Amino acid sequence: MQFPWSLIKAMTWHALKCRLTGRRRAPIVLMLEPLFACNLRCEGCGRIREYHHVMDQRLSVEECLASAQECDAPIVSICGGEPLLYPELDRLVNGLIAQGRHIYLCTNALLVDRWIDRLPRSSRLTWNIHLDGMEATHDAITQRPGTFQTVIQNIRRLKADGRRVTTNTTIYAQTDMDEILVLLDYLSELRIDGMLLSPAYPYPVVNGQPQRLPTINGQAQLPGRARELGKDHQVASQLFLTRCEVHAKFAAIRKRLEGYRLLNSPLYLDFLCGKREIPCAAWACPTRNICGWKSPCYLLTDTHYPTFAEWQEKTPWHQLGPAQDPRCHDCLVHYGFETGAVVGGDLSLCEGLALVRWQLASPRAA
Ligand code: SF4
Repeated sequence: MQFPWSLIKAMTWHALKCRLTGRRRAPIVLMLEPLFACNLRCEGCGRIREYHHVMDQRLSVEECLASAQECDAPIVSICGGEPLLYPELDRLVNGLIAQGRHIYLCTNALLVDRWIDRLPRSSRLTWNIHLDGMEATHDAITQRPGTFQTVIQNIRRLKADGRRVTTNTTIYAQTDMDEILVLLDYLSELRIDGMLLSPAYPYPVVNGQPQRLPTINGQAQLPGRARELGKDHQVASQLFLTRCEVHAKFAAIRKRLEGYRLLNSPLYLDFLCGKREIPCAAWACPTRNICGWKSPCYLLTDTHYPTFAEWQEKTPWHQLGPAQDPRCHDCLVHYGFETGAVVGGDLSLCEGLALVRWQLASPRAA
């Protein structure tokens, strides 16, 4: 699989267009959740808990495409829920490609068979596969034996078929960082096109923290929600890391991460080690789901707005981030801060060059 130059071109064009038109806070990645249904029940998943009341609903293809047009981000991450359960995924993917967007299809890869022959072989489509460790770890987190072997088999199949494949690995409190290096070596042997590491975020909904009652366009939802949160949420809360624990875990392997084909930028990795600050740029990654445009971010829910314009205008951006909102204190996730590293605006020349080098590098897995 070739380096995705069209993605770099699209990002550059997007940045230029925003600068020329004076568009502020232009989104970069649309997190599109066409459905919440999933064929797994992973420990630590906030979605299956927060949105259990709309598990049987989904956005239409037309609603998805209109949302992509509305916010006009160059990249669309199709997530959920499990997107391979979405019955019109081929129509959705083809429609987004026709709009000129790049797609990250975020999947647990259990249903690759169902779609491999129906989705286009395109440099604009990346299969982004969830994999949280080697066999025993991944099967424990997904709570289903055999998941790891199926995922690996399907990665091999996708790669043999010439698809662009990346992985997404969440680091939990119990994660052994040496095992993560073993996983990265293994994925490199499979010639994966990129690997992403991100620390788990302690979702208020699974972490037993106080939170505001979510609303849809100002109307309170789920009055019985607190009662519905079950015992499994307490179990999930043991998975999460504090900010200091994230720093310690990543600092322990930072040097040994050099040379892997990571999707994490070097600036974000330094941030994870506690070596630099990055502002949260949640505004760059809007989330659209069945309830509307999720505010304030992919992780926190105060309300859902009916339009992207309202989401952008009414979300109190200046009140968010670790120094402003206590719910953000232990958040270091890729979603808010990787984009913050790129669009934060205070990069030195050295840091800018490091980013360019990272973009162009094709180590080990090349
Ligand atoms: S720091 Fe940003 S991405 Fe993280 S929870 Fe807060 S608003 Fe969301």
